[in-house]
Amino acid sequence: MTDAQPNPNAKFKRRIFSGIQPSGNLTLGNYLGALRRFVEKQDEGIETIYCLVDLHAITVWQDPDALRHQTREAAAGFIAAGIDPERSILFNQSQVGGHAELAWLMNCVARMGWMNRMTQWKDKAGKNAEKASLGLFAYPSLMAADILLYHATEVPVGEDQKQHVELTRDIAAKFNHDYKVDFFPQPDSVIEGAATRVMSLRDGTKKMSKSDPSDASRINLTDSPDAIAKKIRKAVTDPEPLPETLEGLEGRAEARNLVNIYAALAGKTPAEVLGEYGGEGFGKFKPALADLAVSVMEPINAEMNRLMQDPAEIDRILGRGAEQADAIARPILEKTYEIMGMVRSR
Ligand code: ATP
Ligand code: MG
Repeated sequence: MTDAQPNPNAKFKRRIFSGIQPSGNLTLGNYLGALRRFVEKQDEGIETIYCLVDLHAITVWQDPDALRHQTREAAAGFIAAGIDPERSILFNQSQVGGHAELAWLMNCVARMGWMNRMTQWKDKAGKNAEKASLGLFAYPSLMAADILLYHATEVPVGEDQKQHVELTRDIAAKFNHDYKVDFFPQPDSVIEGAATRVMSLRDGTKKMSKSDPSDASRINLTDSPDAIAKKIRKAVTDPEPLPETLEGLEGRAEARNLVNIYAALAGKTPAEVLGEYGGEGFGKFKPALADLAVSVMEPINAEMNRLMQDPAEIDRILGRGAEQADAIARPILEKTYEIMGMVRSR
């Protein structure tokens, strides 16, 4: 932003919001692209609100018992990774009614054409768009509501969610313009680190996703050390040794992915990793990466398992978080209704 442009968020308190769908096991992609960043943000002196977005998860079919389990397990994953429910608000989306309510209001602001351009919609609906749920199409509008409901100014996400945060800005701007108010901020996506887009271990052109039908394509936070090592050993790569410089990764998506993952796990830059491993083959690099991944993920996995022994405590944490979230959301939602002309008399 240049000095000439006023900061559109100047009048808003800095606030961080982000979410992860409990649509399966948390992956290494979710951890490096999102969750680990969420933890770092707790130390920046800004209010942090983190959400298990169960309403997003049901945009594709979820078995009810599995969804309940995944939600608790994802909450355990958040806490095990370092989200402190005393310092961050942690809850599941469906416990705060404002998300669904504001999503409806935002559905009436967002335009069909905007939704049609969303890459995630095109990727997920694929050739079967006619059979996709209406919720999957409207997903970005619910996500805009998630963020705007708290007047959040910063949204830490992986690369794949950048477009949805941009859409949130468009929706906020259209609302402010149509109703001649300066009510919603323009949230910024925060995309940081060496692994903002972790790729599938089976296909270097596809993002690692918890909903990928192939379990071998991803590393789950719940995987055992053996499973992690095996998946990395079997990761698709080319036969060439690692290059000495970043330019040498050009056209080598799988090699680049493993180098980025190593860098993110080790807290190094990809160039530093190549400085160390350039010239080495995958026979040496993969075991080193597996050891590193296990050393980072095993303690999280163990703590998750411990927390899952007491699901009632997890539910209590989510319930308390939902109350805190609701206390921030309700007045913002009420004001939105008022701006839009709804009679509010109870
Ligand atoms: P699904 O396949 O159900 O969409 P997902 O793995 O894409 O699951 P989401 O819940 O959609 O996970 O995304 C949660 C957060 O994790 C978002 O901030 C997203 O940008 C980030 N994220 C997801 N996949 C990756 C990835 N492969 N690399 C980096 N960040 C990722
Ligand atoms: Mg996703």
